[in-house]
Amino acid sequence: MKTPGRILTGKMTELAQSERFSIRSGNLPIWCPGCGYYGIHQGLNDAIQRLRLPHHEVVTVSGIGCAGRYPFFADTYGLHTVHGRSLPVATGVKFGNPKLTVFAVGGDGDGLAIGGGHLPHICRRDVDVSYLLFDNSIYGLTKGQPSPSSPRGFRTKASPAGTTDAPLNATLLALAYGATFVARLFAGDPAGITDALVEGVGHQGFAFFHLLSTCVTFDKEFKTWENLKHAVHPVPDGHDRSDLKKAIAHVLDDDFSTGIIYRKERFPEEED
Ligand code: SF4
Ligand code: MG
Repeated sequence: MKTPGRILTGKMTELAQSERFSIRSGNLPIWCPGCGYYGIHQGLNDAIQRLRLPHHEVVTVSGIGCAGRYPFFADTYGLHTVHGRSLPVATGVKFGNPKLTVFAVGGDGDGLAIGGGHLPHICRRDVDVSYLLFDNSIYGLTKGQPSPSSPRGFRTKASPAGTTDAPLNATLLALAYGATFVARLFAGDPAGITDALVEGVGHQGFAFFHLLSTCVTFDKEFKTWENLKHAVHPVPDGHDRSDLKKAIAHVLDDDFSTGIIYRKERFPEEED
């Protein structure tokens, strides 16, 4: 009979031979056990593998925060920049060498607070960058303060009486700013993240990925795994992702649908 140790060793050998982990750097992720970011990490890694992108032609650009650690964990070029500045740096990288595939990554604090002023401009310029916004509605790295996407009444150690500010909806912002590809996905569904990334990387223009995630260490009441598992559901069958007005109306009504919400098809006269 196979012992658990032998089963584990066999599984590890099988995974090593699959080359599925060749995209990983020598640095193992150091997020808290159970953090939603592992699922996003797996989804992105698998997308890079599936797209067969040569690692030296991929650049990951992050800001600051728990999500900002991603570039250390990938066998690609990477830039861990300053707080909130992943999008302008990613824009510069893409303009400097358009052949590169560029991923900007960052959290909700990084992308919606200090960096929130960059999102409209990368949308209106339609820069061919994929932006993964890891949204757990909390500042995890600094030990659990409410973020711009925290709901009203959200209690943390830093807001024991509950927040009073209204939350920002990242998917809605991207649509309103004119992003030409918008997806909302769940950290607990890495395969769904991979599928959407594969399509989004193929999109000629800015691709925005709003990733609903958890902070298991500091959020015990809102975006917990339990709550997210019950709340998240696919966008309805028949959702017309080519219709911006319908996409906006859908997102106004539904905070937890996942899938590709909007994709603007390019017309020949728009090609450069
Ligand atoms: Fe994840 Fe929260 Fe830990 Fe940061 S603090 S690694 S977001 S669980
Ligand atoms: Mg966060």
